[in-house]
Amino acid sequence: MTLTAEQREIQALAREFAENEIRPRAAEWDQARALDDAVFAKLAEVGFLGMTIPEEHGGLGLDPLTYLLVLEELAWGDAAVALSVAVHNGLVAATVVRHGTPDQKRDLLPALASGERLGAFALSEPQAGSDVGAVATAATRDGAGWRLAGEKRWVTNGARAGLAVAFARTGDRKLGAFLVELPAAGWTPTNRELTMGFRGSETVSVELSGVAVPGTRVLGDPESGFRIAMEALDQGRVGLAAQAVGIARAALEHAVMYALGREQFDQPIARFGGIQEKLAEMARRVTAARLVTHHAGAAMAEEIGSGPDSLTARAAIAKLTASETASWVADEAVQIFGGYGYMRDYPVEKLMRDAKGTEIFEGTSEILRLVIARELLRDHPSTTDRRVT
Ligand SMILES: Cc1cc2nc3c(=O)[nH]c(=O)nc-3n(C[C@H](O)[C@H](O)[C@H](O)COP(=O)(O)OP(=O)(O)OC[C@H]3O[C@@H](n4cnc5c(N)ncnc54)[C@H](O)[C@@H]3O)c2cc1C
Repeated sequence: MTLTAEQREIQALAREFAENEIRPRAAEWDQARALDDAVFAKLAEVGFLGMTIPEEHGGLGLDPLTYLLVLEELAWGDAAVALSVAVHNGLVAATVVRHGTPDQKRDLLPALASGERLGAFALSEPQAGSDVGAVATAATRDGAGWRLAGEKRWVTNGARAGLAVAFARTGDRKLGAFLVELPAAGWTPTNRELTMGFRGSETVSVELSGVAVPGTRVLGDPESGFRIAMEALDQGRVGLAAQAVGIARAALEHAVMYALGREQFDQPIARFGGIQEKLAEMARRVTAARLVTHHAGAAMAEEIGSGPDSLTARAAIAKLTASETASWVADEAVQIFGGYGYMRDYPVEKLMRDAKGTEIFEGTSEILRLVIARELLRDHPSTTDRRVT
């Protein structure tokens, strides 16, 4: 895929940012299980918190491919930073851009673009992960507005966020999408999750006890939350695929450098055919995953559509391919590092932990296979489960 001069320029900027501002701190954030305020301030300064927000609302208004190029670079630096940025841009800001009223956009987007407010996406619950239809958080009418009550789980950016898109049941089989401006009375982060990877990313449980949401802060109509969530996940999955490519590329590069420097049997291990085969296969898979991701990116700006070539199908294929690539490549990188790869002192074990996460959130690999099959078999509805996200 040929990049424009502007796309190359922003990619180079993101690469430099990841190299100077992110990668040197990645191990420390992983150890501390926290990112610091300074990195968010720097991300805001270069505009990376407004990538999906149009310029008229203070953002960079990047095209989807450029956005994906930046996410790959940020994840190459540290996956936790990239996830935070992607949830903010891809799941929250882009959803407001797509579904918000002119007033909602005017009121909320500039603060997201400037980083004054970080976005969180509160969909999952203790009993509602893959099965989004099982969301039990209730939205009840309160005058012209709503009150939300329930429990959310795994809310990335949840403790730091200034705006959450929260999904709650507004009717028997219907969900609404609510814009919750934070801090808000009744919105209480309860448990900071101790995750395997993405440790710097602040993933929390949240208790909602009567959170008041004005009627003007409902996205779309109060019964369109399921569709809004699915559309957001389509976009989000492509972003996550780009992050997985960044993790995989980092693992490949570390493996190449290590194989050149490590000597056994009086020669660099890079001279052994077994190691070269691994490196070649790693490179092949990283390149393939990137191309599939960019193929999905090309569909991001178009109509959502349905069927085997829809954004839904392409996004699921991209995320599935890239996340499984990241896990496989990171695993091989650990193998190439040998005993040192298994040590915390070297970067590849973290990449292996981070890679695993990409196979789970925003649609597990099992669910993505169901989504792909559903789009393939769309004209034969009796063969597939329509509820699967
Ligand atoms: C670090 C992290 C960050 C996250 N951030 C967010 C966030 O910001 N916002 C948010 O809303 N959520 C977030 N999540 C939640 C994430 O999206 C869910 O964990 C994920 O969707 C899976 O749901 P679950 O954990 O309940 O697993 P389950 O749905 O219980 O699945 C368990 C297993 O069963 C399989 N399975 C389920 N249904 C089927 C089926 N029909 N056919 C075949 N297999 C099936 C799954 O693939 C999986 O292997 C995050 C999770 C993590 C770990």
